[in-house]
Amino acid sequence: MERGPILVILGRQGSGKGTQAALIARRYGVVHISTGDMLRAAVAAGTELGQRAKAVMDAGDLVGDDIMIGIVGERLAGDDIRVGGVLLDGFPRTTAQADALAEILEGEGPDLAVNLDVPQGEVTQRMLDRGRADDTEEAIARRLELYEAETAPLLAWFEERGCLRVVDGMGSEEEVFNRLAQAISSL
Ligand code: AMP
Repeated sequence: MERGPILVILGRQGSGKGTQAALIARRYGVVHISTGDMLRAAVAAGTELGQRAKAVMDAGDLVGDDIMIGIVGERLAGDDIRVGGVLLDGFPRTTAQADALAEILEGEGPDLAVNLDVPQGEVTQRMLDRGRADDTEEAIARRLELYEAETAPLLAWFEERGCLRVVDGMGSEEEVFNRLAQAISSL
């Protein structure tokens, strides 16, 4: 059966991956799923999920795997995704989430995981500059620490499956986008 591409964008918080993900989704017509945006929307709407996630997010910790796998699994079942493809932004964040994703996809992908590479010192400064409510210095440090501990092993997970590409995330929005487009076009 004809299906759209299943893409994953990885990168430290503050690497510009949200911005680039939106650009990619527009260019390639894939559905952009940002778990951070979904959680922030739930917090703003005051849903049960939002109420549970808020404290975790404010502390810079990770929302539980079971919750995240449930949310993403439900969304991935949509027909729009099967046809048009998807770009996952912010998921998977742990190897447990990656294993669950592989199970959901039943061996069909992901087709490509790009790691948008921006050094730690640079992302810290960018996050401080954007001044989002959950961007306290403490939360930033905690998230970067978690990224190294939980998310960096994901690079190995994708590498083992032969779908990892590292893209230099330094430079202008356009320069970085062109690099990403090149990686996607090589599919
Ligand atoms: P983001 O916008 O991707 O930086 O996500 C903001 C916050 O949402 C993170 O700091 C986590 O607390 C939470 N979050 C987003 N995606 C996930 C995920 N896949 N697993 C666990 N927590 C997540």
